[in-house]
Amino acid sequence: MGDPMIEHAHALVELVNYETLADSHGEQSLALVAAEFVSRLKSIRRAGDALLEIAPNQYCLVLRGVKQRQHINLAMEKLYRELAHPVDVLGEQIPLVVRSGIALPSANLTQSKQMLSCAQSALRHAKRRDRPHVIFSSSDAAAVRQDPNLSVRFQEALDMGEFVSYFQPKVTAAYGTLVGAEALVRWHDAKLKKVVLPGQFIEQLEQSGLIFPLTLHLLKSAIARCADWPEPLHVAVNVPPKLLTEEFLVTAIGDALAIADLDPARLTIEITERGQMPKQSIRVLRNLSKLGVQIAIDDFGTGESSLVQFRNIPADTIKLDRIFVQGAVTSKKDRAIVHSVVELARRCQMQVVAEGVEDAKTADLMKELGCDWLQGYWFGKPMPNDEFVKKHIGALPRSAAVDHVAALLDS
Ligand code: C2E
Ligand code: CA
Ligand code: CA
Repeated sequence: MGDPMIEHAHALVELVNYETLADSHGEQSLALVAAEFVSRLKSIRRAGDALLEIAPNQYCLVLRGVKQRQHINLAMEKLYRELAHPVDVLGEQIPLVVRSGIALPSANLTQSKQMLSCAQSALRHAKRRDRPHVIFSSSDAAAVRQDPNLSVRFQEALDMGEFVSYFQPKVTAAYGTLVGAEALVRWHDAKLKKVVLPGQFIEQLEQSGLIFPLTLHLLKSAIARCADWPEPLHVAVNVPPKLLTEEFLVTAIGDALAIADLDPARLTIEITERGQMPKQSIRVLRNLSKLGVQIAIDDFGTGESSLVQFRNIPADTIKLDRIFVQGAVTSKKDRAIVHSVVELARRCQMQVVAEGVEDAKTADLMKELGCDWLQGYWFGKPMPNDEFVKKHIGALPRSAAVDHVAALLDS
């Protein structure tokens, strides 16, 4: 007999701000928020759906008969609508911040235990990729390897220049002066006639092996764009951990910098630490560092990183994950974490970038806590290069651009 549970989608929903609530609002408020969270999850169930408690802040919704992405997307929209209103605790409005990992039924999954473990894996991806939810489907993961069409489609898209970098401004915390931008890939899918976000394809590209040519393409174009921006603005490019084992990366980056005649110090490589980094990767990072390229540790504090790893990585910058940045406004513990990371960075002569700054209050707090640079929707969303230049660089008259650079050198 098959396990009937595996016919249905499993959505593992986690209340992200649970950990910090006890510190910021006390145990009693925590219990009220947790109870409201469960009651709202219950309210979205249809007949035959189940709700399983995995942890006090983690529940698994088993959605009967949901097998397709379109249907799960509808279910998630309903969930977000239901959780959208904050919880009123003694007059204070506490938001329900959630993240979900979803497993869809597939022929490879024969036990509900496996479904749950896939949903857990998807939840980890959602955390890493900073997405509200990620759908795991083992048939998808296998499909990229097995379905030559998808790899062909990626290759075509690469050849047709459909992968382009958008740029998101980074500014000084002290004066809000532009210091550079992070390059974030977008797929201008000509067939679907839409712009696809990286969360929907990066992982599949990593599995297909095409991530290497894509990253090289993005590195070269970002370096070329930055060479056209006024000095000393820098560009930061995300490089997946898998690529760091390739010594060839050092030569390729060195060549691209030489061709564009860009000072290596104006390029930052953003890396995420996931688990133990192989010795080879540390060697590649050291060689990049010797070249003068800056290294930033992305999503700091969210991976399975250790201090030994931190000690071995020749990093110049720490990028504080937005979970702490946004949490710091309401949580004492998050503020303490930001403060300690800033202190750690100071002692190691590193810079700190606070990510995900969405409002003035967070920006002011990050400045107060000693972060050097800020990034987030408050200062600008990721945008095409032309728009970035127009809005953030080009709008300045030439003399102002020179003053701006001089101010930067002074700061
Ligand atoms: P990341 O490197 O941590 O990038 C930051 C993500 O947060 C971006 O999402 C950005 O649009 C978003 N973001 C920026 N400011 C705010 C804010 O104030 N609030 C909120 N809620 N979000 C903000 P995006 O562009 O969808 O990228 C998601 C992830 O995909 C990136 O996370 C990175 O891990 C990966 N990625 C993006 N571009 C590339 C790339 O060129 N190569 C590789 N390998 N990975 C990339
Ligand atoms: Ca990044
Ligand atoms: Ca990040």
